[in-house]
Amino acid sequence: MNRLLQKFTPMAEVRAELDALGIRPFGAVTEKILSSTEAIVDGRRVILAGTNNYLGLTFDPECIAAAQRALAEQGTGTTGSRMANGTFADHVALEQELAAFYGRRHAIVFSTGFSATMGMGATLAGPGDVVLLDADSHASIYDGVRLGGAEVIRFRHSDAANLERRLERLGERAADALVIVEGIYSMLGDRAPLAEIARLKERHDFCLMVDEAHSLGVLGAHGRGLAEAAGVEDAVDFVVGTFSKSLGSIGGYCVSNRPELEAIRFSIRSYIFTASPSPSVIASTRVALRHLRERPHLREQLWRNAERLYAGLAGLGFTLGPEPGPVVAVRLEDRATALRWWPELLERGVYVNLVVPPASPSTFSLLRCSVGAAHTDDQIDRIVDAFASLRNGA
Ligand code: PMP
Repeated sequence: MNRLLQKFTPMAEVRAELDALGIRPFGAVTEKILSSTEAIVDGRRVILAGTNNYLGLTFDPECIAAAQRALAEQGTGTTGSRMANGTFADHVALEQELAAFYGRRHAIVFSTGFSATMGMGATLAGPGDVVLLDADSHASIYDGVRLGGAEVIRFRHSDAANLERRLERLGERAADALVIVEGIYSMLGDRAPLAEIARLKERHDFCLMVDEAHSLGVLGAHGRGLAEAAGVEDAVDFVVGTFSKSLGSIGGYCVSNRPELEAIRFSIRSYIFTASPSPSVIASTRVALRHLRERPHLREQLWRNAERLYAGLAGLGFTLGPEPGPVVAVRLEDRATALRWWPELLERGVYVNLVVPPASPSTFSLLRCSVGAAHTDDQIDRIVDAFASLRNGA
């Protein structure tokens, strides 16, 4: 076979293995979505416990009405880049609202969270620059910094002392470095040690970017994310994030007080060479952001649900991520058990995410659950019961 295509053989073998088991964990089809917490997946009615729908806003009537209005008034798409015909008044309004929400002067809206994080990483640091990355960083962070051509140094996951040693080794270059961490890590649901990293920044004066994809609307008194919760917003130069989790739509953003962001905007290839988000997407996102600001009870409910699920699964003796949060990952040393349990959960009416190496942060596999404000106590208990019956081999 052509060498070009040979490298896909291992992936084809994994697919064949899953097909033989009769499961489709990475292509499960949502045949009918019933609400923000329930759907028909692969023929079964299931509780959605793996959708990152943290505030449960995907079926919010006001978000839907705003999207429908925008669709009727502005059409299905912008058919162009933000730098050409694709900047509508609502894109600018959303940028202003994001800047105001974060109390920062500048904001950029992107078409996806991936293109925001990837584009910022690729553009901020180029050849001759140094980027220090948490080893468990999201693919969009890795891809961005590789694309930019900077020297990439990984530090041990959430280990500020390890980061410090690497900064010290850099000497004077540390002051020109870019450090990137995430608010909540998507796989295990743990948080970056941001207060310690902010203290390191006082000494080394590097540039700090935080991806708050999973922490927007989740952490902080106003829902601004980990930097707010840790009381270190001033130390963060660039916040990036996504609309595809708490805000229930699709798109990404970067906010900053750095005046350079306006020049950076015109240098980001994933902003320039792609069509801007559709008007309906922007409209629902704007309403969702207003709800995030004005409905703190959603965040409170999310936390009650997160703690209920974490306590329930911990009570069954499962090894989970280190702290409760909207991402609750059940860690399994044995990949075969994860592969067997995923469809069994589906049969018991629970959809979670299956994560196996190399996608998981280490050699273990995960049955990754996420909860949102819209889950009921009964649904959370049914998720826990499903895991309990697996544990008991029922
Ligand atoms: N950053 C992180 C940390 C993420 O987890 C994700 C998505 N899982 C993204 C960026 C990309 O966001 P999106 O899926 O909205 O493009």
